[in-house]
Parts: sequence; structure tokens; C-alpha cells
Amino acid sequence: MPYHISAIDSNKSTVLVNIDKYPDHCPICHIGIEAKQLAYYVSGTSGVYLSFEMLCRCPRHECGRVFLALYKPQLVGGTVFFYREAVPSIYQAPSIPESVQKISPSFYAIYSQAYQAESSGLKEICGPGYRKSLEFLVKDFILNPASKVNAERDAINKIPLASCIESYIEDPTTKAMARLATWLGNDETHYYRKWADKDLNDLKKLIHLTVNAIDSKLTMDGYLEDMSKDKEVGNKPKSARS
Ligand SMILES: [Zn+2]
Repeated sequence: MPYHISAIDSNKSTVLVNIDKYPDHCPICHIGIEAKQLAYYVSGTSGVYLSFEMLCRCPRHECGRVFLALYKPQLVGGTVFFYREAVPSIYQAPSIPESVQKISPSFYAIYSQAYQAESSGLKEICGPGYRKSLEFLVKDFILNPASKVNAERDAINKIPLASCIESYIEDPTTKAMARLATWLGNDETHYYRKWADKDLNDLKKLIHLTVNAIDSKLTMDGYLEDMSKDKEVGNKPKSARS
């Protein structure tokens, strides 16, 4: 149901317009909000309006920034202005576990750039970026620890990502998620889309599932190594807390 708002047009006249929704997310602190509305404007005059803009303020004390919600008109019975985006859109770094950033700084750098491209509205070019980040993630994970001999490193560097996953990843969850992410990632770089019912969000979810599986494996390996070492040197657990 559209909401009715009195806006100022280019002649400083007041006009009644319909909008589909109010902004509910701050583009600066990236938190869901009920935006404070400060002013409303339409561009154009005499019923020919090209856009509607709502000046808003984030109500959070920690943020409190002012932003502009942008709307475009669409004919649905009458003219309704549909919410498109809010500006300025401040880049927010993606959340990737530290363990994964540590074994693959290249993955984190490429993934962050793809994420930034997507946040800037470059939806067509961020897909290949996500696909590239996946390749670095998988290969760096396989090559971790860095002590692997050079012959093995050369072989892993040269073979395609899909073969790499099948030949070198043992953990079944990591293997399954990396495999699915690769299939969807390839769709982002090819002319023909094989998985027509899947999109960029599915690819990102699968990359995150791969990241989580790798993070779990690295964390488990860390505990196993750490506590086996303690056992070897004869450390005994305390019988009671003092
Ligand atoms: Zn905010």
C-alpha cells in the first residue's frame, strides 16, 4: 500500500506523491533503523516528476548521520515512487574469520574488492571477482601449511580449481561446499548460465559456507595440535580450581 507524502517540487510548490516504503536501513552504519524524516523533494514540475528524494537522519546516537533516500517513479494505476537506494553508501568490510584471512590474505583482498564493487552497484563485474577469490581461498587452504614441498605447490598451482577440490580436499563438508561454489562461480564468468535459478546471493552463501567449513577445520586442527603437544610433554590437568 503506498504512503502519501507532501513534497516540494522544482517550483517550490507543494505536491502530494505516493511512495512504496520508507527507508529502513542506514547506508552509513549499516544497521536497521526507523529513519528520521527531515524533508521531501521531487524533481520536475506540473505532474511530470522524474524522481523523489527524502532527506533522512539515522536515529542512532552512535551514528546520527544524514543521508538521502532516492526513489524512481513507476506507473502502477497512478504514479508511485519506488525506493531504490540511499546515499552516501559507505563501504563496510565483509566479515571473514581471522583464521581464513591469515592463511589466504589474497582471498580476503579479492573478496573485499568484489564486495566493494557490488556495494557500488557494479553487479555484473563483482561475480567474476567472487569466483576469483574462491580459487585463492581453496588453493591457499590446500597449500596450508606453507611447508608443502615445491613440487606439490607447482602441481596445485597449475591444475583447474574443480580438479584441485576433488584431488586435494579431504574434509567432506569443505569439499561439497567448495564444489557447489565453483559451479556457481563459473556461471559468473561464462556466456551461458547453467544454474539459471541461482544468483549472486547463492554464490556468496556458498563461499561463506566454504569459509566456515575451512575456519572450523583450522580451529579444530589448532586445538588438536596444541593439546597433543601438552600431552607429549607430560602436562597434567589441574585436579581442582584454587
Ligand atoms: Zn546510521
